[in-house]
Amino acid sequence: MRIRIEKAACVGNARCAAVSKELFPLNEDGYIDTDGFDVPEGMEKLARNGARACPERIIYVEEDDGTISWPPKKPA
Ligand code: SF4
Repeated sequence: MRIRIEKAACVGNARCAAVSKELFPLNEDGYIDTDGFDVPEGMEKLARNGARACPERIIYVEEDDGTISWPPKKPA
């Protein structure tokens, strides 16, 4: 499982870091400091919760088969 983040769209409200500072580090200005990472074994739930916590929905959860399970697709 992998997390991808549209770093440039971050508004710096730190909701992701409130879930896990380790997975979602912020820079000194309070914006997300990573554009993605492989989720360490056992931290999948935290990573999903962090992604869901982002009100901007710029944190994507990519499953091992390549599908994006978060955010949900907008209805067509
Ligand atoms: S929750 Fe989203 S907008 Fe807020 S700091 Fe994290 S990535 Fe940026």
